[in-house]
Amino acid sequence: MRIYKFGGASVKNAESVKNLLKILSQESGDLMVVVSAMGKTTNALEQLTEAYFTKTSGKVFDLFSKIRDMHFRIFDYLMPRNSHEEKAELNALFTLLEERLEKAPSLNFDFEYDQIVPFGELFSTKIVSLYLGASSVNCEWLDIRRILRTDDQYRAANIDWETSKSQLDTILPLNKMIVTQGFIGSTREGLSTTLGREGSDYTASVLANLTDAKEVIIWKDVPGIMNADPKQFPESQKMDTISYQEAVELAFYGAKVIHPKTIQPLQNKQIPLHVKSFLDSSTTGTIITNVDKDIDMLPVYILKEDQILLSISIRDFSFVNERQISEIYGILDEHRAHVSLSQNSAISYSLCIQCESRRLPDLIESLKKRFKLLYNESVELITIRHYTDECIDTLLKNKEVLLEQRSRRTARFVVREKGN
Ligand code: ASP
Ligand code: MG
Repeated sequence: MRIYKFGGASVKNAESVKNLLKILSQESGDLMVVVSAMGKTTNALEQLTEAYFTKTSGKVFDLFSKIRDMHFRIFDYLMPRNSHEEKAELNALFTLLEERLEKAPSLNFDFEYDQIVPFGELFSTKIVSLYLGASSVNCEWLDIRRILRTDDQYRAANIDWETSKSQLDTILPLNKMIVTQGFIGSTREGLSTTLGREGSDYTASVLANLTDAKEVIIWKDVPGIMNADPKQFPESQKMDTISYQEAVELAFYGAKVIHPKTIQPLQNKQIPLHVKSFLDSSTTGTIITNVDKDIDMLPVYILKEDQILLSISIRDFSFVNERQISEIYGILDEHRAHVSLSQNSAISYSLCIQCESRRLPDLIESLKKRFKLLYNESVELITIRHYTDECIDTLLKNKEVLLEQRSRRTARFVVREKGN
């Protein structure tokens, strides 16, 4: 078994779906192809969920129509002579979403999100599989929610490995290509769940683990894993080989290479992960695998924007002790804030966090109830793995450093532009 994963950029329009066909028409044997929602559809569906939840009805219809039209435009372009049945298959999914939107929302935003946003992957995989089928590729569409069982932690659901494994075993061996969704699963009651934004990489790796796959390939619009985001650092270079451990570190520090949870299921079964370009499938890309010796790593730059720097102290000037720190983390967890870095001194505890802006005011209020709080919004967190003094100097030019941490391999700086 092999697992391929294609992200939103690889199916963003009809031309890119055609390119997918070029890659997949050369394949044979057991292959599961995980495909994300088309282009920025997940963002559009998030807006739709927001409008639905806040009962902005005019907007709901507007957003829904835009999403539907975009998908049908691509479908009609790819298959100008599509049959009535093919169109009906795609249309059935839109009807399901439409019916959902006609019902009144519950009070649980995360639940509603998970009932709406998964449609992005359902639409895209439906179009891709119909198109591949019409182009004589032997493939079948699979609703992965039949296979991947999760708990009911909506928007951050956890895989139930045992149930998923036994459900997956019922469809093995495949003897063909399966086109299926990333990012989504379902609860025991059959309600849809999502695994967190950018979760399709994780799905690919879960499926690889469950089927003892030979390899996973994540197809991207970059030549492989770069030592920096090319959009932020034009001089970035591709890395050929990375160890599982280094990949986990990079994901942990916020490199947008792969979803942070992706590596573990692969490492556990020693399954190599290739990151390759769908624009030029003949190039080798990057391989993440077991590497015994330390390879010479380029410095890797990771920039996280929109961070919030909190400085928390106790009202009566006493030390911040373990109990208070655990209380702080409790509050952060309750508001789903994510800690990127922390540091304590005698009377204050500093944290660089990431928090959805809709949740931030409540978080600030809860912390202020218990502690003295200073905070800075919109700061950046720069991490450099395998740093050199030179690269630190270049990177910090024109930046004011608010907090700094260094270990043997990693240097991290919370910064803002000078003069802010
Ligand atoms: N479509 C989802 C997202 O954009 C999942 C994914 O693409 O990995 O977050
Ligand atoms: Mg995506």
